[in-house]
Amino acid sequence: MQFLNFEVVLSILLLSSSSCCYGFTTPRLSSSITSRTTTTSSFLLSAIETNDDVVEKKKAAPKKMQNGRDKMEFLKNQRDAIAKKKDYLRGAGAFKKVKKEVTQSMRDQFDSDMMNQMKETPNFKLEKDGAEFYLAKDHGFCWGVERSINLAYSAVETFPDAQLHITNELIHNPMVNDKLHAKNVNFIQKDGENQKDFSQIAEGDVVMLPAFGATLDEMKILDAKKVKVVDTTCPWVAKVWNTVHTHQIRGLTSVIHGKYGHEETMATKSMCETYICVKNLEEAEYLADFVASATEEDTERTEAFMEKFKKACSSHFDPHKHLIKIGLANQTTMYKKETRAIGQLLQKTIMSKFGPDLINEHYYEFDTICDATQVRQDAVDELCNMHYNKPEDGGNELDFILVVGGFDSSNTAHLLEIPQMRGVRSYHINEAECIRADNTIKHRTMDGGIVESETLLLPKEPGTKLRVGVTSGASTPDKEVQDALGIIMMLNQLYYQKSKEGSTTEEEEERNDTTTITACN
Ligand code: SF4
Repeated sequence: MQFLNFEVVLSILLLSSSSCCYGFTTPRLSSSITSRTTTTSSFLLSAIETNDDVVEKKKAAPKKMQNGRDKMEFLKNQRDAIAKKKDYLRGAGAFKKVKKEVTQSMRDQFDSDMMNQMKETPNFKLEKDGAEFYLAKDHGFCWGVERSINLAYSAVETFPDAQLHITNELIHNPMVNDKLHAKNVNFIQKDGENQKDFSQIAEGDVVMLPAFGATLDEMKILDAKKVKVVDTTCPWVAKVWNTVHTHQIRGLTSVIHGKYGHEETMATKSMCETYICVKNLEEAEYLADFVASATEEDTERTEAFMEKFKKACSSHFDPHKHLIKIGLANQTTMYKKETRAIGQLLQKTIMSKFGPDLINEHYYEFDTICDATQVRQDAVDELCNMHYNKPEDGGNELDFILVVGGFDSSNTAHLLEIPQMRGVRSYHINEAECIRADNTIKHRTMDGGIVESETLLLPKEPGTKLRVGVTSGASTPDKEVQDALGIIMMLNQLYYQKSKEGSTTEEEEERNDTTTITACN
């Protein structure tokens, strides 16, 4: 083990702590791609082998540099050079003195007694006044978000006299961001072109980088401004950056499964020499089809390809040159089944084009789906199973599934997709106030629209039990969920338990007619 550096050990630890296997193996491990296994042990083996590759690659790197590539051409080295400076603070080590106080303050603000009670029951259930709530086994704050908030709060306590800034938002949650606003932290907003105005930052200020990271250009700007940087980037995101570094060393184009305008993907793109983003399987199929059959003579097709991806690829991108050798990376919060399907598609396409013997030269893949994202998606899938199972199999039909999390939160949006795709009535809200006393709900749909006032509790027999599945995104405090459940309990009392005369069908139908849809930002 002594030859493994910290980065390698961290990668192994991250992977070995995964409770669920992703199923990818690196092509170099397997002489027959079709015989790949999906067990945890084999996956761990693949991770260890792959990290050995990283060690090999690092040994090989100086040789490559001697062969014409300067060390600083590798974007990771530029990032590391900044991150090694004394005013660049990473990890809790820098804030030991305030740790206890900050941890307690976070508990006071974000924990929920009601949710803790639910977690203590065998099936995460709360029954109250004719309502049953079933909480997803994995939900809410992930450790990366907790770590990020802890570092941000610690910075506020440690530098009480400094002007503090955050590049955009720390995480995508209104409650957390409001708390930071209240601590006089300045949020550097994006304009319509995704640009941030850093002129408001002065020498000596403290600038926090969010959980989803910052671009290399932003890091360079802050470095030049001589500020203190508190880097709260989640290690899972940094793991993706290490993967695209491997792509750069191997001369591969990074195909990123992610939304090109999302902050995390923007940061990842900035760590790539050559990249293209595909936001979903459909775009990946378009790309794979191009790889499989487009020729340089086919100018019309090439132009159409470039038009489609003009905002989603590096400026020098040439599809005939840069799709010959590719590696897959992803935004950590994407829908895991889709990332897996894209990986399989790209691998199959490259193998068909170049043959199985050359697959290692032309394709590289490494699991970078965040474990927290994965287990939350699995848990909401379980809630859907419960909805469809027969009572004797532990089933219990749900009136709806409530998903709580920021409207900009990618991982929360994916939690909604699962019940929606399985036909379970479900709503994504960003705060408790989205549920109103008049029995309407403001919620975000799968396509990003905001429905302003849909009826929540539909007519049913008075006295009937209300059954609600509950989950929340990785950046959502339990306290926010508790507040939402409190309002639902009140509505349940009002509309079902106390309404002996019957339902309010006509009023509700009328309200449904006035539902409005606006675009989500
Ligand atoms: S969802 Fe995953 S990648 Fe994002 S902050 Fe949490 S642990 Fe990190």
